Amino acid sequence: MNAPRNIGSKLPPPMAVLLELTHRCPLQCPYCSNPLQMDQVKSELSTAEWKSVLDQAAKLGVLQVHFSGGEPTVRQDLAELIRHARDVGLYTNLITSGVAASKARFDEMAAAGLDHVQLSIQDSDAETAEKIGNYSGAQAKKLEFAKWVRAAGLPLTVNAVVNRHNIDRVGAMIDLAVSLDAHRVEIANVQYYGWALKNLGALMPRFDQFEASIATVDAARARLKGKIVIDYVVPDYYARVPKACMNGWGRRFMNITPAGKVLPCHAAETIPDLKFDSVREMTLAEIWARSSAFEAFRGTDWMPDPCRSCDKREIDWGGCRCQALALTGSAAEADPACGLSPWHEKLRGMAEAASQAAAPEFQYRRITPAKPSTSESAKTSGTAEPVAG
Ligand code: SF4
Ligand code: SF4
Repeated sequence: MNAPRNIGSKLPPPMAVLLELTHRCPLQCPYCSNPLQMDQVKSELSTAEWKSVLDQAAKLGVLQVHFSGGEPTVRQDLAELIRHARDVGLYTNLITSGVAASKARFDEMAAAGLDHVQLSIQDSDAETAEKIGNYSGAQAKKLEFAKWVRAAGLPLTVNAVVNRHNIDRVGAMIDLAVSLDAHRVEIANVQYYGWALKNLGALMPRFDQFEASIATVDAARARLKGKIVIDYVVPDYYARVPKACMNGWGRRFMNITPAGKVLPCHAAETIPDLKFDSVREMTLAEIWARSSAFEAFRGTDWMPDPCRSCDKREIDWGGCRCQALALTGSAAEADPACGLSPWHEKLRGMAEAASQAAAPEFQYRRITPAKPSTSESAKTSGTAEPVAG
């Protein structure tokens, strides 16, 4: 077995595993983090296979499991999987759009031992929200779902992805989360790879909209201190410091696709030439310790300058690899969100130009047949061509 690179002699276990139980979803958000080529239902792991994954995760030392998708509640075995996760000692979080489950099915999930729910909203304004998700009637269902969560005594986080169509209502989205008795609201600007990159012009907010949103969040934090936690994830294109994407590649997190491929982050399949191992062929522990996809950007040995000689390299780990690829053509570049990246100013200019042009129509997320192999899929599912420059 190859020794894990550059993160100490003993590789710590991942803290969390995100299970993409399915890529099916009633909504079609144009910034969806699922890949352009999604897994078909017939390729999804069975109940027994997911239970084995949960057993292996617990044995490996994982603490939290996130049930996600697509829309995880379309899997009829979700309550059974939640119960199994709890039985093996995992903290369970459901990440849902809230439109697909009946009250009876939600009650089954709560009774199975669900610990926490993250509910996505597309906007506080129902009409815009339903245009973004391309699903009529979604908002009323979401608000109803939030009530079920709180009535069951479960903690609720509201997730809102912001873009040029809703960023002016950040304050209203925070107020909506308060009215739903949420414990936390996460307002996240779009990250541009996969579907969001395809929709960049339709989604990119102007810089002045972004600045106004910061002021709104700051004021809301002061006003609502002690009542709700407000997290704000700023847009990379208007930042100068990259995020520590996934807390570092292969350091804390594993993502498992509906068909069982194990990824260091949900967008990793956009990177050509990485080979992703499957839980159908290897154990989770083997994949964590020696999968070539996890080794590719683990630690700091892979970094070229400016990251190699930067004193922040073990703080932000060079930022997002998928964004570096999508925007510069190389996954090994510093994230262009970094002010030290030679691509940074070009990107900022490109973002400003896109945000000031008229917004094109959304290209909605939809399931198309999967490509025959990972490398074939990667060549077409991301963009290996630089966007800027
Ligand atoms: S981002 Fe939208 S389309 Fe994608 S899984 Fe979530 S709700 Fe469904
Ligand atoms: S140069 Fe690299 S390590 Fe330094 S701040 Fe930028 S992205 Fe982070």
